[in-house]
Amino acid sequence: MLVLADPTLLRNALYIDGAWERPPGTDELPVTNPATGAELARLPQASREDTIEAIEAAQSAFPAWAALPARERSKLLKAWHDLIVANVDDLARILTAEQGKPLPEARGEILYGAAFFEWYAEEAKRVYGETIPAPKADQRLIVLRQPIGVCAAITPWNFPMAMIPRKAAPALAAGCTMVLKPASATPLSALALAELADRAGIPGGVFNVVPGRAGIVGDELATNPIVRKLTFTGSTEVGRELMAKASGTIKKISLELGGNAPVLVFDDADVGVAVQGALASKFRNMGQTCVCANRIYAQAGIYDEFVERFAEAVAALKVGDGFDESVQQGPLIDEAAVLKTEEHLRDAVARGARIVTGGGRHSLGGTYFQPTVVAGAIGDMLVAREETFGPLAPVFRFETEEEAVRMANDTEYGLAAYFFTRDNARIWRVGEALEFGVIGINTGITSFEGAPFGGLKASGIGREGSHLGIDEFLEIKYMCVAEICPVKVSEK
Ligand code: ADP
Repeated sequence: MLVLADPTLLRNALYIDGAWERPPGTDELPVTNPATGAELARLPQASREDTIEAIEAAQSAFPAWAALPARERSKLLKAWHDLIVANVDDLARILTAEQGKPLPEARGEILYGAAFFEWYAEEAKRVYGETIPAPKADQRLIVLRQPIGVCAAITPWNFPMAMIPRKAAPALAAGCTMVLKPASATPLSALALAELADRAGIPGGVFNVVPGRAGIVGDELATNPIVRKLTFTGSTEVGRELMAKASGTIKKISLELGGNAPVLVFDDADVGVAVQGALASKFRNMGQTCVCANRIYAQAGIYDEFVERFAEAVAALKVGDGFDESVQQGPLIDEAAVLKTEEHLRDAVARGARIVTGGGRHSLGGTYFQPTVVAGAIGDMLVAREETFGPLAPVFRFETEEEAVRMANDTEYGLAAYFFTRDNARIWRVGEALEFGVIGINTGITSFEGAPFGGLKASGIGREGSHLGIDEFLEIKYMCVAEICPVKVSEK
């Protein structure tokens, strides 16, 4: 039983047009706790008709929401932020229950997510246009930035409380309305956010949540002509599919897709800082983040020392149920995640890697996995090419900076990269040479709502966060006003 100070935050219905709906006869899916397998709720799955109803509600709500002065939208987003912060403990319990991450990480994620509402509540007031010097005396040229309209968001299970605000906050700040399909594993966080939106006074239809099957809800969101913008976070594979589907109606799209983040540790790094940075980056959310270190490259001069100290830190991580406040690593989201991590580990060992710590499923059973480090990783292993998305850290050896940069860039992905060095010139050289959208230098954590997040290459399109993130939800309109007044230019 999930005990909450405010049990009404636990919703198990669709949220459409400001009302909670449980359409009769809909099929239901259980939401389970990955730590225990216990059922938390049975959630109705939105049908295509429910999804269309939500899209139409968002369409009806759009004109009034877009017309609301920015400072009024701002006040409502700020109220939503304040309610999230006030309910952080209950929200963290919901998140830990359905996702598995330890409570302190859950609280951190919720406050990070809330910060997007605060940040974009401010940014709503700064959607400025432009005037352009005209080619003719009686013309004035003006550029307006206007909300694009109804937006659809499809979000993953790894950071529900951060990924949803990262999309909803700029969209609503810009004056757009939204229909959200949360991941099937973590819909309760999304519904709790909707409950708080309602309490904050966000008008009905502005933010709608339709949990449901990807093939039905996701398909409708990607193809419905009313939806003018699709924003997705998830795998590259699904992103590619959604991009193709959205092409039918030429939607504006943002895609935040997979990563295969390299970490470069140079001989001149502070090894202690590198160990902590690699640990934070690799093992946050049990290795299940798109910016998680996937490949760690250590230079020959510090290789042995780095592997030893890193493995020692990894071995000390406490694994267990996320509700135990002392736990640092919860279970993985599901059996498929365990199987993939196992496959990558087996492949690495078969190709000559050495297990330094961990090495397989955890004695706690279920989807628990031992935080694992392997040394002697090489380029043709699966861990070098694919995102593991689990608690397995392979350490590769390199000799020169040039070789390290080449190996780091040798991937179709380009989301996050990290490197550790105390050489100032190298910071600029390597920082500019790495083909990634987010680069952490002497740190494993870069997340901040005021900074642009997004990937290059197969890692995606568009940016979230920062003043740049709101552009994803705005259209540019150019107005050429002629004959404004017959200007008399005095003749010489
Ligand atoms: P992950 O499982 O790592 O979260 P996915 O890309 O599989 O990554 O899923 C991310 C989100 O996309 C989830 O909400 C999922 O339900 C949704 N999704 C998965 N497949 C499709 C699809 N074919 N069409 C639309 N949405 C999809």
